[in-house]
Amino acid sequence: KCIANQKLFTELNAFITPLQSLGSYADRIRDADVRRENGTLKSPLDGRLIAIKDNICTRSLPTTCASRMLEKFTSPFDATVINSLENAGAIIGGKTNLDEFGMGSHSTHSHFGPVKNYFDIVNGDGSERSLSAGGSSGGSAVAVATDQCYAALGTDTGGSVRLPAAYTGIVGFKPSYGLISRWGVIAYANSLDTVGILAKRTSIVREVFNILNHHDARDPTNLSTSTRSRIATAVSQLHSSSRLSSRPLRIGVPIEYNLTEMTSDVRKVWLSTLQTLEKQGHTLHPISLPSTKHALSAYYILAPAEASSNLAKYDGIRYGTRAEGPDKGEEPNDYLYARTRGEGFGDEVRRRILLGSFSLSADAMDNYFIQAQRVRRLVQNDFDNVFALKNPLGDDAEVENRAPSPAETKVDVIIGPTTASLPPSLASVTEDQDSAVSAPLHSYVTDVCTVPASLAGLPAISVPVPAPTGKSLGDGKTGFDKVGIQIIGQYGDDNLVLRVAELLE
Ligand code: GLN
Repeated sequence: KCIANQKLFTELNAFITPLQSLGSYADRIRDADVRRENGTLKSPLDGRLIAIKDNICTRSLPTTCASRMLEKFTSPFDATVINSLENAGAIIGGKTNLDEFGMGSHSTHSHFGPVKNYFDIVNGDGSERSLSAGGSSGGSAVAVATDQCYAALGTDTGGSVRLPAAYTGIVGFKPSYGLISRWGVIAYANSLDTVGILAKRTSIVREVFNILNHHDARDPTNLSTSTRSRIATAVSQLHSSSRLSSRPLRIGVPIEYNLTEMTSDVRKVWLSTLQTLEKQGHTLHPISLPSTKHALSAYYILAPAEASSNLAKYDGIRYGTRAEGPDKGEEPNDYLYARTRGEGFGDEVRRRILLGSFSLSADAMDNYFIQAQRVRRLVQNDFDNVFALKNPLGDDAEVENRAPSPAETKVDVIIGPTTASLPPSLASVTEDQDSAVSAPLHSYVTDVCTVPASLAGLPAISVPVPAPTGKSLGDGKTGFDKVGIQIIGQYGDDNLVLRVAELLE
C-alpha cells in the first residue's frame, strides 16, 4: 500500500503537486480492495497510486513542466495515458518534479527546486551531502523508490527514465517509440519523446505497459493497429521458430560502451551481470556499434532543434505566464514576447532554444542538423546490423527472419551499463560549483549510453543490479548498493527486453 509521507514530500521535493487529500484516495483504494476480495478487479492497477511526471497533461491537477512559464497552467483535457490508467482503475497520485520541459539529467533545472535522491552521503562531521536523483524524471523515480506510489510515469527523450531509475535503484523502462500515445504529453523533441514507466519491479512495469500499449488515433506518430500486428508477427516468428524459452539468449556486449570514464564499480557490476547470465546458459557476443561515439553529439543537435520549434508557442499570449508591462520599448528585447520568454524560461531551456535555433539557421543547417540526421541513421543501422530480429519498420521487413549463419552471429538483446558512474553529489552538478561552461557539458556526457537507443527508437530498460560482494558501492558512505544495467532490444521486441530484465532481478 502506498503511503503519503509529508516529510518525504517536502525534503526530497519529488512532487510539484502532491496527493491532495488522502481521504478521497483512501475511499477509492478501499473500494478496489473490496473488488480484489470479490475477484472483480478492473485490472492489476485497480486502486493503485500512479505518480505522473508534470509534463503529462491532467485535467484535475496543474501541469507545469517545472517551468515558471507554465506555473499556473492546468490543461483542459487529460492525456491519453491518463485516460487509460483511470479506465483501468488506477488513481493519479500526484504530479512529479522534473528538469524544466524534460531538459536535463539531474532534476536540478526545476523552477520548484531540485529533486533530492534519498541516498545521502554522510560526511565525517555528520553533515549530509545530497546526491543527484538523475533526470529528467527524477521526481517520478524518487516517488517510486520511497514507496510514495505503486508506479510512476516519466518521459524518456534521451534517457530521462533510465538514468533516474539507475540513480535511485529502481526499474525504468522506455518502450519502442510509437507504442504509447504521446497525445497530451508536452513535447520536448517529438521524434524522440517516449512515455516511460518506473517501478520497483519489472512485473509492475509490465502491468502498466500492458494498459498503455495500444493504438491512439489522436497521436499521429502512434503505431496503427495493422503495423502493430505486423510487428507482432515478425517478433513471434523469430522467437517461436528458435524456441526462445528453450534455447540460450544471444547477448551482445557492445565494446563502445566500455567507456574510459566508467567507474570500476559500474564495470564490476556489468561484468558480474554478464557472468551470471552466462552461468544460466546464455551466450555472450562482443559486438561493435561504431557510431556510438557520435550519437551524443547528434542527439544534442537534434533534441534542441526540435525543442526550439516546440517551445516557440510559449509566448505569454497563447500559453503561460505573461510578463508585466506594455508591448513596446527601445530595443527588441523590451517587447512583451521577448520579456515573457526571458523571464519564463530557466537557463538550461534558454540555452537549448538558442542552440536549436542556431543549428536550424540557414548558415548552420547543413553542418549541424543535416549531419546529425545522418548520424542518427548510422546509429539505427548499427543496431540493425547486430540484432537477429530484422527491424520490423525497415525496408525488408517482409523478409522472413532466418537463423543467422555462424559467421554472422546476431544477438537477441544488448546489455551494457545505463550510465558510467554512480549518482554524483547535487553540488557537483549545479552550475555555481562548476564553471558555467563545464557543468552543462558534464551533464550531457551522463547520457552517452542512453541516447543511442533513443535515436533508434528502440526499447530499453534500466534494472538495478546489486554489487557482486553485496557491499555498498562508491566510497561506502552512501548506502548505495545497486548499479543500473541497461538492456536494449530490437524495435518492437519490448516483451523480450522485459523478460531479460526479469532474469536479472
Ligand atoms: N538528459 C537529456 C536531455 O537533457 C535527456 C532528457 C530526456 O530524456 N528528457 O536532453
